[in-house]
Amino acid sequence: MKAGKDKVISLHYTLTVDGEQVESSRDRGEALWALLGHGQLIAGLESALEGHEAGESLQVEIAPADGYGERQEGQIQRVPKKYFQNAKALKPGMTTVLALKEGGQRVVVVHKVGMSTVDVDLNHPMAGKALHFDVTIEEVREGSEEEIKHGHAHPPGAEAH
Ligand code: ZN
Repeated sequence: MKAGKDKVISLHYTLTVDGEQVESSRDRGEALWALLGHGQLIAGLESALEGHEAGESLQVEIAPADGYGERQEGQIQRVPKKYFQNAKALKPGMTTVLALKEGGQRVVVVHKVGMSTVDVDLNHPMAGKALHFDVTIEEVREGSEEEIKHGHAHPPGAEAH
């Protein structure tokens, strides 16, 4: 079966950026599951997978615009330290998670640490970067009615919800 919209795919991947390995499902020993055509994967990866089948390996180069977007200027924001769980440990260049007033959280990069505030860069840490994925497709199957309704894959053994 070929990967495409409303198909569920399971794959192993290693993501390399600027020649450095950023993350790998192989290290975790757990494949990534996704329902295609529902925005679960970044756009560039999703289109590269289209038409491929289980057992295939792909090297995928993704330009910033098809990955996490271009970096934007004016995204530095000063935030009181109390909004960080780990304020004392923060150093410039580190990635941390910021809880948002409107709920949810966001990954930010620490720009500068002051006495009582931290300047963070709200650009995604991978913004402006070309992404290199080394992918092996493990399985491709039809998405179930429930998965398509939910807009995401239900990996084997996932809890009902
Ligand atoms: Zn679901």
